[in-house]
Amino acid sequence: MDFTTLLIHGGQDPDEPYGDLSLPLHTASTFAQADPARPGRFDYARSGNPTRQAVETHIAALEGGERGLAFASGMAAITSVLLLFSPGDHIVAGRDLYGGAYRVLTTVFARWGLETTFVDTTDPDALDKAIGPRTKAVYIESPSNPLLTVTDLGAVAALAKARGVLAIIDNTFMTPFLQRPLAHGFDIALHSATKFLGGHSDLVAGLAVTADADLGRRLYAVQNACGAVLGPQDCWLLARGMRTLAVRLAAEQQTARQLATWLAARPEVARVHYPGLPDHPGHAIQARQADGPGAVLSFELAHAQAAATFMRAMRLPKVAVSLGGVESILSHPAAMSHAAMPPAERAARGITDALVRLSVGLESAADLQEDLDRALRAAADAA
Ligand SMILES: *Cc1c(COP(=O)(O)O)cnc(C)c1O
Repeated sequence: MDFTTLLIHGGQDPDEPYGDLSLPLHTASTFAQADPARPGRFDYARSGNPTRQAVETHIAALEGGERGLAFASGMAAITSVLLLFSPGDHIVAGRDLYGGAYRVLTTVFARWGLETTFVDTTDPDALDKAIGPRTKAVYIESPSNPLLTVTDLGAVAALAKARGVLAIIDNTFMTPFLQRPLAHGFDIALHSATKFLGGHSDLVAGLAVTADADLGRRLYAVQNACGAVLGPQDCWLLARGMRTLAVRLAAEQQTARQLATWLAARPEVARVHYPGLPDHPGHAIQARQADGPGAVLSFELAHAQAAATFMRAMRLPKVAVSLGGVESILSHPAAMSHAAMPPAERAARGITDALVRLSVGLESAADLQEDLDRALRAAADAA
């Protein structure tokens, strides 16, 4: 089946008795057992629920993996994956990561005894050097947040395999519509389904997909033991959002391409970060390993004050954390998504106070461009 067909038909349970065209919503916390000695397919809803299972089966099919698991948030999915490891283990992570992933690694897991080294994963040698005898996994984002750096997925997965460590990727920015990391050799793909998969800024959810069944069983054991499961109502909402992923993201991406090209030619804009632009350092790799550059871009204005004026002057995009909604969302990474990162660390990564991130929604490209034009002029005048 083509991906778009799988989006519509991939999450359905052939055993549902009534032939519902919408995913049935099962809210029970517990399920009656005919024989206490032999539990049925579902017994207690933390351990499994038919609505959740439909979403889990669906994301596994979309990512081309063996097992999908749905969590209460993207961070719950990331945390549950990190709980596969033990105190004393070591992880090599990308240096340009979602702020919350950086925070959980450097606070909760550092205290707990899981050590992390952050490297520039666009440089395979740096990655290779950082892997030591205690290393258990490589954890990356591509394109990364908020600088949209591109890492060669095949190279990272091959290196991880050669060194006997797991390859884990946060695939939130791409979704399986644009990029399927397990096909490149990754062991686990993670999602904040709050973003493009849900797509309507109306729920918080996380997903994880494992390439093989054994790793899936180990992650399920963590999910069941720790309990950060996604509730059935949110599973239903997520399943509904996922059905339109392809049309939403294709349209948003088309507008993002147009706006990125236009922004790159503007004198008020110092630099645009978008892998769809031919002069982006990761352009060729992105074109090879993904089906598009996505709908998120970031760009730098002349200085922090210009960025502040620009953000205040924009009317259509909402200024908010998060991304991937039907509405455009504008954010200031240094003060919002990456506020959890110390200023020195942000500076070292190039996340300046003049950087803004735009998640392009489904508004008309002409309206967004007009809005950007006005706000850029306002920023230039104020400077
Ligand atoms: C939002 C986000 C997360 C965290 O997900 P939540 O659903 O907010 O917990 C993780 N990774 C990336 C890339 C994100 O954008």
